[in-house]
Amino acid sequence: MTEQKIIKGSCLCRKIRYQITGARVLGLICHCNNCRKSSGSAFLASSYYVKSQVRILEGGEMIRVFEDERTASGNVLNRSFCSNCGSSLFLARSVNGIPGDAVFVSSGTMDLDGEEWVPTKEVWCKDRYSWLHPFHNTDTKSTM
Ligand SMILES: [Zn+2]
Ligand SMILES: [Zn+2]
Repeated sequence: MTEQKIIKGSCLCRKIRYQITGARVLGLICHCNNCRKSSGSAFLASSYYVKSQVRILEGGEMIRVFEDERTASGNVLNRSFCSNCGSSLFLARSVNGIPGDAVFVSSGTMDLDGEEWVPTKEVWCKDRYSWLHPFHNTDTKSTM
């Protein structure tokens, strides 16, 4: 049996701690306006996992979820953040009211022990700031 990769992470105040087991599906950069607002930055960088891979170790009661209904795609996005420090942690998607199995974990909350987080896909590139160049070796989509 091969050893599963484990990544730990937390919000800024460290009250919420999580652990992810196994490989990600992809590393996503989203340039949409809502992800900019949610991250507070020029884009949102996150890794796509399935829900069963992500386990909350501490501070689950601190998590608040914002239901983002005004999305460019029309899908409802559940954006989870820390009620104490405001870190944006997870993003999950519901299509036609049905929660999906995907969870996108904000890259900046991961404790990667010196390893770099690397994107593999960029979406909503039509909204990418002009001073941002396409990243190397990413699959780019104009929308999603
Ligand atoms: Zn926090
Ligand atoms: Zn987005």
